[in-house]
Amino acid sequence: MNYFPTYNIFDMALKQFDRCANLLELDQPTRDFLRVPMREYHFSLPVFMDNGDPIILRSFMVQYNDGRGPTKGGVRFHPSETIDTIRALAMWMTWKCAINNLPLGGSSSGVVCDPQMFTSAEQERICRGFVRRIAHLSGPEWDVLGPDMMTGPQHMLWMLDEYETIHNRKSPGFITGKPIHQAGSKGRKEAPGYGAMVILREVLKDLGIDITKTRASFQGFGMVGLHAAQLYAQMGGTIASVACWNHVDRTAYTFVKKDGIDFDQLTTITNHFGEIDKDKAISLGYECLPGDDWLAQDVDILVPAALENQIRKDNVDRIHQQVKVIIEAANGPTDPDVDPKLNERGITVIPDILANSGGVICSYFEQVQGNMNYFWTKEEVLSKIDTQITSAFFDVSNFAHSYNVSMRDASYMLAIDRVARACHERSWI
Ligand code: NAD
Repeated sequence: MNYFPTYNIFDMALKQFDRCANLLELDQPTRDFLRVPMREYHFSLPVFMDNGDPIILRSFMVQYNDGRGPTKGGVRFHPSETIDTIRALAMWMTWKCAINNLPLGGSSSGVVCDPQMFTSAEQERICRGFVRRIAHLSGPEWDVLGPDMMTGPQHMLWMLDEYETIHNRKSPGFITGKPIHQAGSKGRKEAPGYGAMVILREVLKDLGIDITKTRASFQGFGMVGLHAAQLYAQMGGTIASVACWNHVDRTAYTFVKKDGIDFDQLTTITNHFGEIDKDKAISLGYECLPGDDWLAQDVDILVPAALENQIRKDNVDRIHQQVKVIIEAANGPTDPDVDPKLNERGITVIPDILANSGGVICSYFEQVQGNMNYFWTKEEVLSKIDTQITSAFFDVSNFAHSYNVSMRDASYMLAIDRVARACHERSWI
């Protein structure tokens, strides 16, 4: 994997913001206020290794905007983490919460490290050390943390435990993505992928397309891609191809079955990092193509669910003529410069801030359940996510039709307008 991308995703986020701020004709002070984070913190984080040696890690926390409520965002552990990635994620989270009318703002934090290089005890010390830095800058009523890339329920529990120790009280609302038996929510791992497919269901209805006659290609078969593919297959769609990373060959592959992939069979040859076993796939009759070929398949639907910057000027023309819908299940998979081309081709693009917002909706539900100290079944959680995200889809779709703009522009305009209004109502600007 390329740990050191050469592009800057905050530039991408700002390009999208500027475009929609212009369409909304936002006044200059509002534009200046929303274009930068309200608060950001940079920390050095000394952590003792098992052998007694200290190492110094860098970490960041960005609380982008809290006009609509306490900020909410993930904590990432990643070797190529940068303050700009964290700024972009915090900005996108602000818009995601606003689109869904959640009473939350957006934030994001990260520690520059590769957790796979550390023992479990060392990872625990990183989590606890990080919380010691931010314990007085966050909390259930100010900034709520959650998991993101390379962090999971165990990290969340260590962080919660440290926070509760520092504040000398139980505070399950400090963090989401906790283990289910420790005040976590059922349905969290399905939420972003399922949410994306709920939106696909509504888009296809709008376009008058029968989902059972569609074929889709997925990039990514991890937490988001796998659950997206699962619900798509359950709704009757045909999974034609799936691309994923192969850490042994250090490259990506696209696995294709023209007559359709059996979802359950594919999961039996996939590890928990979302990597499909190449040799087993070939022996089961899958075609194994280069990683980029997922977007050149003769399918109706593309679901990028892996990485940012995957649909770009250099490969957009490879998208097959048959493609009608792109559902951005990953964050930032499309370079904003190729949007005009996709629009010209009449492809409906559902932007990330709407498409993958099932994850933050579920996090919000985790907080709600924690506050009640009463927990819903998985079916209840997923059905409430369906209701919430479908309603967000209709808001965006109605806005797009009324103002004759793309779904991406409509999503941003609606979200930015809601956040701007909240800041105006508070007389901040
Ligand atoms: P994951 O690590 O569980 O899975 C990533 C998948 O992408 C794996 O199947 C991996 O093999 C594949 N992949 C990696 N590099 C690839 C490449 N070069 N080509 C093809 N496939 C490649 O990650 P995830 O949690 O599923 O997240 C995927 C995307 O969704 C990210 O953009 C993430 O920010 C976004 N997202 C995640 C959540 C969440 O709650 N996990 C919520 C919203 C958005």
